[in-house]
Amino acid sequence: MWSTSLFNYQEIDLITTTYKKKSLGQHFLNDFMIAERIVSSVEIDSKSSIIEIGPGDGSITKWIYDSKPNRGILIEIDTRLIQDLKINYPEFQIINEDVCEIHLSKLLKDPKEKFIVLGNLPYNVSTRILEHLIDHRDSIERMVLMFQKEVGDRICSKLRTKDYGRLTLLAQEFFNTETLFVIRPSSFTPRPKIDSVVILFSKREQPLINLEDRRTYDNIVKLVFSNRRKMIRRSLKAMYDDEKLKEVFLRTGIEPSKRPEELTIQEFADLSNVIHSLK
Ligand code: SAM
Repeated sequence: MWSTSLFNYQEIDLITTTYKKKSLGQHFLNDFMIAERIVSSVEIDSKSSIIEIGPGDGSITKWIYDSKPNRGILIEIDTRLIQDLKINYPEFQIINEDVCEIHLSKLLKDPKEKFIVLGNLPYNVSTRILEHLIDHRDSIERMVLMFQKEVGDRICSKLRTKDYGRLTLLAQEFFNTETLFVIRPSSFTPRPKIDSVVILFSKREQPLINLEDRRTYDNIVKLVFSNRRKMIRRSLKAMYDDEKLKEVFLRTGIEPSKRPEELTIQEFADLSNVIHSLK
């Protein structure tokens, strides 16, 4: 019988209720076939350097361990889980910290090393963790991460859909994203209210766009998507004067009456680069 769980599920329920560890998004995977499927989807071999975010009671870790990677690093914020992780995975490096406080490049042992990152991410901070990983993309080769479905849909969405937005642009600028499969709430203890998805992030050779100034780009993306029903010209008027906007639309050839979800990432880059050049 397969089991590496350090707690029985009643105990986990007790922990989540008594100590409010729901704040750490502790929905533990109870289906070993799904855990195996997650790990096999990243193709680990003896040269791989793996980081697992939030190993919890080790349901995914067990399969990583059995794949015998070159290196395994487990980053878990909950101190109560650390001792058992150390006992069960003695060859792995275990870091008891918030992953968002960790500079991944400092964990590299040689300049050519790149990490494969895995994790069933805590729902409440999953986008913050994804943003941190994207900031540290230079140290990463690919990732397989689990999100609540609604967040996963935003990450993988296509142009002209309701889910297309800031998170889509951020993830797809640097990674090719693909939804691998959906997981039902019954595969977790305690059960979340919603479905989850597993997403493969494969690093692009080059980012999709070249930016003159990232701050200008970020401000534009944030501004237009905070008014997603408005035409982009109307949203941008809050930040730039009419004359400048006329020139921007002329030079980029972008239709000012478009809504944000109709703009490709390249068009956002064009807008940003022209606006920056007119400063
Ligand atoms: N990997 C286990 C599984 O699939 O059953 C547990 C996944 S559970 C959804 C999320 C895990 O991330 C928990 O163990 C939680 O303690 C941990 N965690 C939450 N916030 C974290 C953070 N900021 N940094 C590192 N780990 C975190």
